[in-house]
Amino acid sequence: MKEYKLVVLGSGGVGKSTLTVQFVQSRFVETNEVSNEDIYWKRASSHATIEDSYRKQVRVDGQQCMLEILDTAGTEIHGHARPIHEEREGFILVYNVTDDVSFNDLIEIREEILRVKDTDKVPMVLVGNKCDLEDDRVVTREQGKGLASQWDDCTSFETSATDTLGVKEVFFELVRLINMI
Ligand code: GDP
Ligand code: MG
Repeated sequence: MKEYKLVVLGSGGVGKSTLTVQFVQSRFVETNEVSNEDIYWKRASSHATIEDSYRKQVRVDGQQCMLEILDTAGTEIHGHARPIHEEREGFILVYNVTDDVSFNDLIEIREEILRVKDTDKVPMVLVGNKCDLEDDRVVTREQGKGLASQWDDCTSFETSATDTLGVKEVFFELVRLINMI
């Protein structure tokens, strides 16, 4: 089975852990494209409040995949992005739509990833989380799309991790982007 390494990055409090746990714990409804295969998930590492990694088996476009998901403590990419080109590695860059600082932080995080990886072919998804908080929104949907369109190999999403809205699409799209590179 193909193994994928997915790294979740973004400022503190944007919802990285909520997003990751919602995905890892979810059971997917059978559709043409994806199906459940929520065979197991487990917490694979120690520091509950700092950094966790999870494994989850899913089927994406008919193919079984083992995802290893690293929920990082934030914006620090050292140790997560390494200069070697790891096979089937991708990044989930998360901001909070009610916090424009968290949005702007991602520009630097992406640059740092590209610098460390020493390639501009890095599969990434840009995720505007907390889209349920529409009244407090300060980053528009168009701004999210606009930023992602400036980046190669990047798709943008909006999610509500607490409502599990759009969550699985983020992870499946990243697997597809990785497969395309
Ligand atoms: P992290 O520091 O990026 O891992 O963020 P957490 O996952 O710990 O979430 C920080 C806070 O935001 C928690 O209180 C979550 O319940 C809340 N939160 C996360 N995602 C959402 C969301 O989509 N909508 C709302 N309203 N709150 C969220
Ligand atoms: Mg966290």
